[in-house]
Amino acid sequence: MKRTTGTDRSITKHWRPATQAVRAGTWRSEQGETSEALFLTSGYSFDDAATVAARFAGEAQGMTYSRLQNPTVAMLEERIAMMEGAEACRAQASGMAAMTAAMLCQLSQGDHVVAARAAFGSCRWLVDSLLPRFGITSTTIDARDNAQWEAAIQPNTKVFFFETPANPTMDIVDLQFVCDLARKHGITTVVDNAFCTSALQRPLEFGADVVAYSATKLMDGQGRVLAGAVCGTEEFINNVLLPFQRNTGPNLAPFNAWVVLKGLETLDLRVKRQSENCLKVGKFLESRVNRINHPGLPSHPQHELAMQQMDACGSIFSFEMTDRKEAHALLDALKLIDISNNIGDSRSLMCHNASTTHYSVSAEARAEMGVTEGMLRLNVGLEDPQDLIEDLDQALKSIGR
Ligand SMILES: *Cc1c(COP(=O)(O)O)cnc(C)c1O
Repeated sequence: MKRTTGTDRSITKHWRPATQAVRAGTWRSEQGETSEALFLTSGYSFDDAATVAARFAGEAQGMTYSRLQNPTVAMLEERIAMMEGAEACRAQASGMAAMTAAMLCQLSQGDHVVAARAAFGSCRWLVDSLLPRFGITSTTIDARDNAQWEAAIQPNTKVFFFETPANPTMDIVDLQFVCDLARKHGITTVVDNAFCTSALQRPLEFGADVVAYSATKLMDGQGRVLAGAVCGTEEFINNVLLPFQRNTGPNLAPFNAWVVLKGLETLDLRVKRQSENCLKVGKFLESRVNRINHPGLPSHPQHELAMQQMDACGSIFSFEMTDRKEAHALLDALKLIDISNNIGDSRSLMCHNASTTHYSVSAEARAEMGVTEGMLRLNVGLEDPQDLIEDLDQALKSIGR
């Protein structure tokens, strides 16, 4: 029955990723709609009291309340799980809801976390400011250096938390080494895979335990909704994450889930084209700025490792002007590329991280992680790369570069 093939794993697990991105998770109602139905409902009604009692008791399958399950959200969760190669996935209201849930659901007072020091600003805030309030300590390290991971382990280390490439320094973490090390010590790895998605990098294949997402970025990819997701084993998702999520409620709205489902249909196409464009723009910019941090260019100190782990370079890189004044001047001189702090979008967007995404991180921590005052981050979109190069060229000339 084609109506339900998308939810039958004995079928969908044999599909290749681009097919899964279009069809996995699709569950069709009796109307046989081609596009996924949008179930904008908070609750459900039942034919009799015994049915609802059985569902609440976990003895029967079925919806009970949209903080617990929703058919549109479930379609997205199944699609992401299949694409990621994960046993299970739960969608969250935003990327930060996903990171917070992935960490707090498994950590308790007295636990210790090792985290990459180069990270998205709010991920650093979570580790540096939120966890200590609950008696959870952390060590932040230069995650490019394998020896630092090993040296930071304590008897109470419970979680390794990192993103690769990191936002916005483009530091690369050696997935195989770090996941192997964690396994050896019984530590859970939580990988924030926002810069890649499963279209470019699949951390579970390297032995990661949990993959957490901002689906706001490449998955939606068209700048419309906030969304997040956490993927892992059935055991982790059902027994560790779900009790936290169901009782605290960081759930994704069905409408936003539906938008991300539409985004995933074109993920493979967009990520491949944006990676190609990103490489062209990076090659142009390399000789015109002080320094470029671009995993697709041989000048990146971890270029080889990046290209082993990733299928392509992705849509994002950062580069350095002399100081904040010159970086702001370049932003102000752009005519096509927008000044915006989002990434993964089909539009090219540039931002000055020290005064935006990493404003909430102390100046000291910014310096330590390499977010300099002159750093700019560019997300390369789906425009013709020649138009982007011409815009950058005119902006650089207008500020005397
Ligand atoms: C954007 C981002 C987040 C946060 O996601 P939101 O959807 O904005 O909450 C987390 N991690 C990384 C690496 C990001 O780029």
